[in-house]
Amino acid sequence: MAVACLNANGMEPVTNRTGWPLNGDGIWVDIRQPASIAPRPVLFLDRDGVINRDTGYVGDPVDVELMPGAAQLIAYANRCGVPVAVITNQSGIARELFGWEDFAAVMACLEKLLEEQAASLDAIMACPFHPDFTAGYGARHADWRKPGSRMIRTAAEALNADLTKSWIVGDAVTDIQAGADAGLAGGLFVGTEIPADLPSETRSTLSLAALHSDLRTVLVGG
Ligand SMILES: [Mg+2]
Repeated sequence: MAVACLNANGMEPVTNRTGWPLNGDGIWVDIRQPASIAPRPVLFLDRDGVINRDTGYVGDPVDVELMPGAAQLIAYANRCGVPVAVITNQSGIARELFGWEDFAAVMACLEKLLEEQAASLDAIMACPFHPDFTAGYGARHADWRKPGSRMIRTAAEALNADLTKSWIVGDAVTDIQAGADAGLAGGLFVGTEIPADLPSETRSTLSLAALHSDLRTVLVGG
């Protein structure tokens, strides 16, 4: 799988010796667009349970199945000129259930399915850490791992996101918390059960289809 990775300036390809686009902290950072001149809204999406069905530590392409409405939402954002950034915790790597090669294979499969519906991703950020499985887990790891917001902040900076017009969609309260910590305009919770600690302003379970219909209003102001 060919992996393109741009640095924060959006110009120079960056690869480590493994060939995977991992930064100095071991975070998958794959930004496919240069920063725009003017700040713009960005749609941040969790992956498992939002774009593809969450079957539990998805590390095999055979387990990749698109969630209803996901491809349509992403394609619509593409047509609106709203960059789509995937922000995903992948503790299956810390748990040694799978490796980056498997993550890349899953992403390749997922992106192929999206491509068939004219949907494409502009940035992919993945965090492999878990407090119980990452040796020496500390504040730096927690900043990257959701509910930490550094993956969102890093992608936002690379894409020159207007945070006041950007949203995150997630199926876990930690997705919404990470978005709030990054200063996003809002979070859309699409989980099946609303947790008690979900921030009240996001306490409505909306479907991806609903966001699809409202995307222009929400993200690009009509
Ligand atoms: Mg999820």
